[in-house]
Amino acid sequence: MREAIVIDPGVGTSNEARLLKNYIDSENLRVKYVINTHGHIDHTSGNGVVKEMTGAPIMIHEKDAPLLGELGGKIAELFGIKCSSPKADGYLKEGDIISFGEHTLTVMHTPGHSLGGISLVGKKLVFTGDTLFAGSVGRTDLPGGSYKSLMKSLKEKIMLLPDDFAIYPGHGPSSTIGEERRSNPFLQASPPMLESWEE
Ligand SMILES: [Zn+2]
Ligand SMILES: [Zn+2]
Repeated sequence: MREAIVIDPGVGTSNEARLLKNYIDSENLRVKYVINTHGHIDHTSGNGVVKEMTGAPIMIHEKDAPLLGELGGKIAELFGIKCSSPKADGYLKEGDIISFGEHTLTVMHTPGHSLGGISLVGKKLVFTGDTLFAGSVGRTDLPGGSYKSLMKSLKEKIMLLPDDFAIYPGHGPSSTIGEERRSNPFLQASPPMLESWEE
């Protein structure tokens, strides 16, 4: 069996759960952790089903952990979504190393889209959650969001990675650090204005 992790299981239907289960089984994977880049529902709605399927513990940054469990369920209800992510089994913080099989990912705390947003840095790749997308950045108008801290996370952390690192965002296509440095409008000298400005 090969060790694996599941990042942000936004599983919403039993059919999606079945597809994921089939993949895990057919690839003969042992899922070691369920990791959430942040606590939003579209990234956590499958936590419960994956934990049930695999027994893997749910890991998230402490600052987004309140979005799981009972409170998370209530927030989901407000959006008319039935979501039950169990509460976190463990917390991730800046500098933590997640190892599975021969792979390691280092946790980078990258707040801005949410208080406890993280990116996961591996060998020539980074999972950026909703902090950095191909050609865009995450919204900062949700509770815990801050444009100022998003920009700080980008400029002082993610964009310090070398150009040849691939990025795998929480939504949309993959890209590279170099491509985003060149063409992402939010990473230019005078980035576009957003509606929400803090301080
Ligand atoms: Zn989000
Ligand atoms: Zn999202």
